[in-house]
Amino acid sequence: MHFAVALADRAPLRPKPMTINLFVVLTLLSLAACRSIPRHEERSTAGVVRSDDPAKARRLLELAEEIAPQVCAQLGVEPAEPFVIHHVPGGDTNGVAVRRNGARVLERFILLGKEPEEDYQGFVVAHELVHWYATAPWDRLPHTVEEGLADYVSAELAPELRDHVTTQHDWILSTLTPERRERAFVVDARDWPKTPKSVRSDAYSIGFEICRRLGVHGLRALCERAERESYSFVPIEWFEIPAKYPAFQRRLELESFQLD
Ligand SMILES: [Zn+2]
Repeated sequence: MHFAVALADRAPLRPKPMTINLFVVLTLLSLAACRSIPRHEERSTAGVVRSDDPAKARRLLELAEEIAPQVCAQLGVEPAEPFVIHHVPGGDTNGVAVRRNGARVLERFILLGKEPEEDYQGFVVAHELVHWYATAPWDRLPHTVEEGLADYVSAELAPELRDHVTTQHDWILSTLTPERRERAFVVDARDWPKTPKSVRSDAYSIGFEICRRLGVHGLRALCERAERESYSFVPIEWFEIPAKYPAFQRRLELESFQLD
């Protein structure tokens, strides 16, 4: 029996707006391969959280119970599958993973390996719950846009962080070249952990911008259309990505924030 992580995610945001490379993501999940299941379990009808730290398991369960219905309401889906969260600190990975026995999938779970700072725990849990609940028709979204959707929904649910998240994405978008945009847009969920950090960083921001421009409902309509028209994924051209993103307009605010 071993763990195989299907989809890695990035490290949590931290409250330092100029540290743009916070959009660091991880790699490897080979680390996860030797992890055992956390010893303690907290369970409710909404889901289960496992951690070696009972207090942490309770805190994460409360947080996820509060956030899950909000995420589902934003996505317009039913919380059909109770969430499963494994808190395994000490790694650098957050993401949705699967536990296998050979070819047989035993369990799908959210792996929280990167310990988020307290202020960002809600954001990180919301982001992963978006991946967890992004079932049909959302499974038609290209992975780049799903990452952006996860950040967008998380920021909507944590208004105190929205400005910070938006500022970081806008900064990255203002530096994009057509080549970087093209490269970031074609990332695949299966290749995500192996994708260079800089490409993943661009992908979050491109996806976020698409979601901000089209709205959650607009994106959902595209997914439903892709479903009706038998596309596996929403074709990129349907997103009407701008040829060029506007120059970064918020440097003054950022600089003044940095002085605090
Ligand atoms: Zn993600």
